[in-house]
Amino acid sequence: MKPNVQSPSYDATIAGRGFRMTEQRRAVHDTLMHQADHPTAVEVFMRVKSRMPSISLATVYNCLETLVECGLIRHVHHDREPSRYCANLAEHAHFFCDECRAVTDLPMRPRRRPEDVWEVPEDVVISKREVAFRGLCPECAAKQAQQKTLQQKPTKKPKE
Ligand SMILES: [Zn+2]
Ligand SMILES: [Zn+2]
Repeated sequence: MKPNVQSPSYDATIAGRGFRMTEQRRAVHDTLMHQADHPTAVEVFMRVKSRMPSISLATVYNCLETLVECGLIRHVHHDREPSRYCANLAEHAHFFCDECRAVTDLPMRPRRRPEDVWEVPEDVVISKREVAFRGLCPECAAKQAQQKTLQQKPTKKPKE
């Protein structure tokens, strides 16, 4: 994660797209930088509202769309679930836990490029990359392993 949320480059990026980094857009962006758990728009709204009580859900949606348009954050889609948002601009894939629905970032290994891993025809024009993995997060995997051990216990031969 790049921790610097007050960086003037964010303001420059948004200005380059003809927008201003308003207080509300900054609050929405800060929220996403602060807690990188890929919240939905409603979750972002709840978090921003706690420090900016006057903000509305519609405004939060607008801020999110503007930030996406400016390339400062991106949409994260999974199945038919509501869109989530990610402020990590580094090359990364997403891991979706089937059990607790957590979404985490999987960083790219150092000195690798996506082109090293995927066979992409040279004549295509790529506008966006979305790589997703799904399964169980470490906590849920550990819980499941524990449950299996507990279930196996009664099948052991009783002591004579
Ligand atoms: Zn992400
Ligand atoms: Zn999980």
